[in-house]
Amino acid sequence: MRLLLIHSDFMEYEVKKGTRYAEKVEDSLKRAKMEDVLTAFMAVEQGDDYDIDATVEESAASIREIAEKVQTNRVMIYPYAHLSSELSSPEVAIEVMKGVEASLNGYEVIRAPFGWYKSFTIKCKGHPLSELSRSIKPEAKVERKHVEHEFYIMGADGNLMPAAEFVTRNRDLADIIIYELGLHVAKDLGVEPPHIRMMKDKELVDYEPLSDAGHLRWMPKGKLIRDILIDYVYSIAVDYGAMPVETPVMYDLANRAIYEHASKFGERQYRLKAGTRDMMLRFAACFGMFSMMRDMHLTKNDLPLKLYELSTYSFRFEQRGEITGLKRQRAFTMPDMHTACNDIEDAKKYFEEQLKIGFQSGSDLGINYEAIFRSTKEFYGQNEKWIKHLIRDFGKPFMIELLSGRTHYWICKCDLAAVDTFGRPIECPTVQIDVESAIRFDIKYYEMGVQERPTILHTSPIGGIERVLCSILEAQANESTPMFPIWLSPTQVRVIPISDKHLAYSEDIVASFKDAKIRADLDDRDESIGKKIALAGKDWVPYIVVVGEKEEETGVLSVTVRKQREKKEASVEELIHEVNKQVGNMPRKPLTLPERISRRPKFI
Ligand SMILES: [Zn+2]
Repeated sequence: MRLLLIHSDFMEYEVKKGTRYAEKVEDSLKRAKMEDVLTAFMAVEQGDDYDIDATVEESAASIREIAEKVQTNRVMIYPYAHLSSELSSPEVAIEVMKGVEASLNGYEVIRAPFGWYKSFTIKCKGHPLSELSRSIKPEAKVERKHVEHEFYIMGADGNLMPAAEFVTRNRDLADIIIYELGLHVAKDLGVEPPHIRMMKDKELVDYEPLSDAGHLRWMPKGKLIRDILIDYVYSIAVDYGAMPVETPVMYDLANRAIYEHASKFGERQYRLKAGTRDMMLRFAACFGMFSMMRDMHLTKNDLPLKLYELSTYSFRFEQRGEITGLKRQRAFTMPDMHTACNDIEDAKKYFEEQLKIGFQSGSDLGINYEAIFRSTKEFYGQNEKWIKHLIRDFGKPFMIELLSGRTHYWICKCDLAAVDTFGRPIECPTVQIDVESAIRFDIKYYEMGVQERPTILHTSPIGGIERVLCSILEAQANESTPMFPIWLSPTQVRVIPISDKHLAYSEDIVASFKDAKIRADLDDRDESIGKKIALAGKDWVPYIVVVGEKEEETGVLSVTVRKQREKKEASVEELIHEVNKQVGNMPRKPLTLPERISRRPKFI
């Protein structure tokens, strides 16, 4: 907000021609004159809608302060776009100016209409205080509403103790406590988290220099893992009864519900202009899904209504210094589910079910998740029994954060976080109970003809795809024999012929695996066996098969099993059985790289 305040003997204006944004104006305001008046020329700027209330409050306070000093009780609010080159949308500007007008009670106020060409005459008084300009930036203020945070640990037995006193042998939970209490000391000064080296070394993912910072390119191996993860979460959501949908990536900030929901994200919003309209890029699928729910005719019979979308992409305008490999990006992939529930009691039931899905994903992916349950004190007080029961059911201690008031749309949420090499949380699955959005987006359902508001759950069943991969890599960075879960391994079986003589037989073996929907490849490079085995190790291949004279004669393969670090003998059928057992019901996708490693292009 730019303000130019001029104390004048008089100020008068007359509307001439309306622009297409012209506000409807009463005859009495088409021309006006005030004497001994403080004229407030105003330009509402981009970003002022991050916190409209704060913009209004601070602008009104500035006007009041000067009006008192120059001893006038007359104010004219005058829209003056020329004060800034970064204007807000007209809707926001009008809202702010109306807000300022309403806040100046006790003053005689005239607000000149917005969106009109006007002629004006002003006579400035010329004393030292008569001309002043101010710039007001609401986003510079951190969390206007003062909220106290208290941290506890609730043991698996349901007992609550202050977090700081909790002594634990569980390194991950201890790290999370330290981080949440603000006691984390950066141990990584200038050192990259290990997953960044790994994502490049393994030709999975890299930064894209031709895009904005924090946008990634996925190379074939990374894309394969990503697609398997996407299949995995899709089937979880559909099995759970969610209906997949797809919604746009950008939304019009002139819509009040959109900018209110967006403002919860503060300056992290990723914005762009579409012609003259201010748009924001979504940070999750809430916007599109809520708009869809609003337009539906829902009855109680339709609840719980579960919608699922893989929001490719979602956006957060992270600071440059915060962008970190797969942990934090500006564009990321958020599997997002929203459940419209009958009421809070139902929401609690589905909350528990969906949290279970989050924990299950951790065990499917080989990630240890610790839980952070955040809630308003009020909700905790009303639901302590349920929370204790929930934590006892999961059989592990949770960190609890209690907030003295509600600043977000949720009254409670649970984040499941992995811990990186430097002891910082990587938040993945989340479930949140939202008591605000149904009203904001006008989502309703009917019960016996009576209109009701649903309670809505926001859930990411497994967390952002990038963060999930980040958590896997960070966990493996500390293992002596790192590997992907077998169902995610780009190559599940590598066949290495001792010499060219055994190429044809090796190809047959690879074909048998392929028929069994197992990803197998063939290392036909001109290298020593020792080197090829070492390279397969570098690729974290879970099963390595070496084929020579004896194997071809007997059909018994010599297999190196990475997980157990053991060698064993098995027929092709036995190995297929073994891999199938390991993959279980997890999704399967064919190998997307050339089977023969000699034909694979290098990406890095
Ligand atoms: Zn959401």
